[in-house]
Amino acid sequence: MYRLRIESDFDAAHKLVGHEGKCAELHGHTWKVEVFVVGQKLNDIGVLVDFNMLEERLNKIIERLDHKFLNDIKEIGNPTCENISKYIFENLKDLPNNAKLEKVRVWEGEKGWCEYYEA
Ligand SMILES: [Zn+2]
Repeated sequence: MYRLRIESDFDAAHKLVGHEGKCAELHGHTWKVEVFVVGQKLNDIGVLVDFNMLEERLNKIIERLDHKFLNDIKEIGNPTCENISKYIFENLKDLPNNAKLEKVRVWEGEKGWCEYYEA
């Protein structure tokens, strides 16, 4: 098996509806996003998935989030780290060839992250 990884990041604001602490208040983070792709078969030039293509796809999703108020993006739902990682996964998961999106890891700040993957 092969596994490759790319990363990106974005800055945005959110507030967690229903949270019984300070996260219910408007605040912001830098979110780091890591994308993991796995697969067994390479294409005829020995590539699992093209880094540039993957980065372009990820950046299109990141553009929708960067410097935004995430609560305004209805598709995310309550903008928890969990829901953001699932949103990115769902928008990225159709990959060419035999590449499979393994997981999306989203860091909320530098101390904690959440991964979304399909079992
Ligand atoms: Zn937060």
